[in-house]
Amino acid sequence: MTNMLMVPQNLAENVRAVRERIARAAARCGRDSDSVTLLAVGKTHSADTLRAAAACGLEHFGESYVKEALPKIETLRGLELTWHFIGQLQANKTRPVAEHFHWVHGVDRLRIAQRLSEQRPVHAPPLNVCLQVNVAGEATKGGVTPEALPELAAAVAALPRLTLRGLMCIPPPEEDEARQRHWFAETARLMRSLHLPGITLDTLSMGMSNDFEVAIEEGATIVRVGTALFGPRAAK
Ligand SMILES: *Cc1c(COP(=O)(O)O)cnc(C)c1O
Repeated sequence: MTNMLMVPQNLAENVRAVRERIARAAARCGRDSDSVTLLAVGKTHSADTLRAAAACGLEHFGESYVKEALPKIETLRGLELTWHFIGQLQANKTRPVAEHFHWVHGVDRLRIAQRLSEQRPVHAPPLNVCLQVNVAGEATKGGVTPEALPELAAAVAALPRLTLRGLMCIPPPEEDEARQRHWFAETARLMRSLHLPGITLDTLSMGMSNDFEVAIEEGATIVRVGTALFGPRAAK
């Protein structure tokens, strides 16, 4: 599954270009570019490629498949990177995620959150969690519905070994920028509408290679970027 091709030759250049795009998008809406974290999505790419990306200054890495991620996390342990699980999480795979990741972006069911909280090692800091919202109401996509979000957020916020940080979305690709923007704005609005006593939500995980500038303009604080950094992924 892991792409055994060499480290992409233009990686350093790609990192610079993506950082530049982030900075320009942030500047357009009067935000500091430091308020946007670039999460490098390394699925299908080798540990060597991720090591090269870390050498370019990237610190946050996203993985979608538990089995693929664990050996990479182990290989790169000495670099002290921050690992984000961004895939669909099944109940029988929560333990390694609770043990080896720092963030989980795709939580959309209480049962998954409960397991992550129970399985988070006692010596580790609480696991950072974003709730995935099915903002466009797509039948085929994961994510909690906007209607069910407040109840789920309140229940997850009460779990002892998790820190609820905010929301994540993967809206449908839209030809029209105004429609794309609408989904990101709607996700931001949903986060603002949540009122959880004693909890500050500070994270909007939204935007990928094709749409992260619009996401930043609508408030994204984490953009999840794979292709624009590493090139196209081999078919899985
Ligand atoms: C693969 C993936 C990304 C990165 O997508 P690109 O279009 O390659 O930037 C972002 N988020 C999630 C949840 C992904 O699965």
